[in-house]
Order: sequence, then C-alpha cells, then structure tokens
Amino acid sequence: MGCPDIRELSGPFPAPNVPPMNILVAGGAGYIGSVFVEEACEAGHTVTVFDSLIEGHREAVDPRATFIQGDLADHAATLAALRASKAEAVLHFAGFIMVGESMQNPTKYFRNNVSNSIELLDACVQAGVKKMVFSSTAAVFGMPERVPIEEDFPKLPVNAYGESKLMFEALLRWYKKIHGLDYVAFRYFNAAGASATRGEAHRIETHLIPNVLKVPLGQKENCAIFGTDYPTPDGTCIRDYIHVRDLASAHLLALKPEASGHFNLGNGEGYSVREVIETCKAVTGKDIPVVEQPRRAGDPPRLIASSAKAINELGWQPRFRALADIVSSAWQWHSANPDGYQ
Ligand code: UDP
Repeated sequence: MGCPDIRELSGPFPAPNVPPMNILVAGGAGYIGSVFVEEACEAGHTVTVFDSLIEGHREAVDPRATFIQGDLADHAATLAALRASKAEAVLHFAGFIMVGESMQNPTKYFRNNVSNSIELLDACVQAGVKKMVFSSTAAVFGMPERVPIEEDFPKLPVNAYGESKLMFEALLRWYKKIHGLDYVAFRYFNAAGASATRGEAHRIETHLIPNVLKVPLGQKENCAIFGTDYPTPDGTCIRDYIHVRDLASAHLLALKPEASGHFNLGNGEGYSVREVIETCKAVTGKDIPVVEQPRRAGDPPRLIASSAKAINELGWQPRFRALADIVSSAWQWHSANPDGYQ
C-alpha cells in the first residue's frame, strides 16, 4: 500500500457558500479545533480562539487567528472574548474527552462539559451570538442495537463522558427554544488523521491510531488490542474513522444560516482494530507487534455512522475516506512531530 504525499491531503477545501464572518472557537488549540481553525482562516473567516490550554497547545493555533487564553468557567472572560471578537457564531470544541477518566472522575466531565459550558451559552445570549456549533459524540448512542447509526436512534450513553455531551445537547434545545440561539450538534465518530501542520497530540493518549503509531516511531515496543472476543469477524471492535479535515469541512458548512440540528459525522465504513493495525503496518512499512489484552470497559463492539443526513442536508462530502489515507496523514504528522507540539 502506497503512502500518498501529504500535499495531496492538504490544500483548501472547496469553499462552502458562506460569507466570511466573525467566529469564536472555544477549544481552538485542541486537536479537532485547531484543524478547524486552519480551515476557517483559509476560508476567509475572522477567527478568535478561546482556549484554557489545559489540554490545548498554543503552537497549534493558526497564526492568522487571534488567541485569547481563558477558561469557560470564567464567565466575565468568556463574555469579554465574545464581545471583543464580535462573534456571530461560536464553535464549541472545548470538552474533556477521555471515556475512562470520565468513569473515575465524572465531576470533571459534568463540571466542564456541562456546567462551564452553560457559562458559554449564557455569554452567547448576552453577546447576541446567533449560532453555536457543538462537538458532540457517537458516545451519546451508547451500545446501539444496529448499525449504521442514524440521528434518531435511542440515546443511552454508557459512560459519563457521553452523558455530559447529551446533557449539553438538551441545553442547546432549550436555549434555542427560549433564547433563539440556533445550533448544530455534530456527533463525531472516530476522529483521526492530520492536516499538513496540525495533528493529534493529547497529553494522555488513549486513541487507537496514535497509540499504534508509537511503535513504528520507536516510542513503544508493541500496541495493545483491547478485546479479541467481540462478535465481529476478527473478534476486535469495529469503528468508523473519519478524517479530522473532513470534520472541519462539516463545521464550515454548519455556518450556513439554514444549517441546524443534529448530525452524525462518520465515514460510513467500519474497520476493526486488527484492520487498523494492518493498515498502520502497510503505511509505515514497519512491523507492529501486538499484545492481546482483555476488553476495555464500556467499548461497544461496532460503531458505524450513517452520515446521510449531513451529506443530504449540509452538502457535506468527506474527501479522505480511505483508511490508508487517514493513517498516512497521521503518520506523516507524527513522523515530523514525534513529541507533538513543543
Ligand atoms: N483500542 C485498542 N488499543 C488501544 C487503543 C484503543 O485496542 O491502544 C481499541 C478500543 O478498545 C476501541 C477501538 O480501539 O475498540 C477504538 O478506540 P479509541 O479509544 O481510539 O476510540 P473510541 O471508539 O473508544 O472513541
């Protein structure tokens, strides 16, 4: 399997038909937020990033954006940032994301992802913001009975992280009804890959692809497979990996005035843990020894999105659908930045 040149994976997206606007990106120094900021600057928007840098990286923020360091818990600072930026829309990427941690420290998740995020909602109302685009998650669906998962499937989260995101989705509905704050909530499936200059650099990395790539990077001797006895063809969990730049392009489309509501964002293709590891081997040309471990608590066997709604209603077109392209872009970024952001 060839490793495509990263230039093929860079370059701007075809600009959606949205006039340039002032936007504030909460969490714009994080993985998905920083890639979105890059695309938004490229599309001509005037971008302000508001990020606490608890998980984000200052170096990840596109230099074309204005950066304000601040915490959503600080209502006055949040409101001041919204007013200074004259934000017409807010993109809210500023959530904690570790499922396992959420089951040990649920308070951290409910406090940040719900309670602190209410400060952002109230500040939006006070500052006259018209729309919020929210980073939700496939974890709101819990253990779905079948795939592909459509937006109206039952929402039965099995961890505090998923519940915290679902609670915020409920708040969005009420703020729209009562205050007229319109919203788009995107349920991401498995975000992966990198742009030419920005990639995945979590302080504690739990996700599959970056963990597997630590082996060919020489940072780990082997990678773990959590569970080999699932009811799937090779016994390992199946996930829907979606390129981070494709997530970013959906957010640009969400700025269209008519875009509103809940949307799943995935590739529509499922890959098992073993298939991901095989792809990483092919892309890197290196052997990747595995260690089979017990199941990780709370992992559903199979999560695959139906993204038909985003494709039909928003005109979304994921461009980097092949798993090899997704892994290649991640590999090129991690090879160039083996220690993440300095
Ligand atoms: N996984 C694994 N080894 C790892 C990390 C993850 O086998 O080192 C598995 C995990 O159990 C799940 C899949 O890979 O079945 C995707 O996990 P990830 O944490 O990337 O995303 P999630 O689907 O949990 O959001």
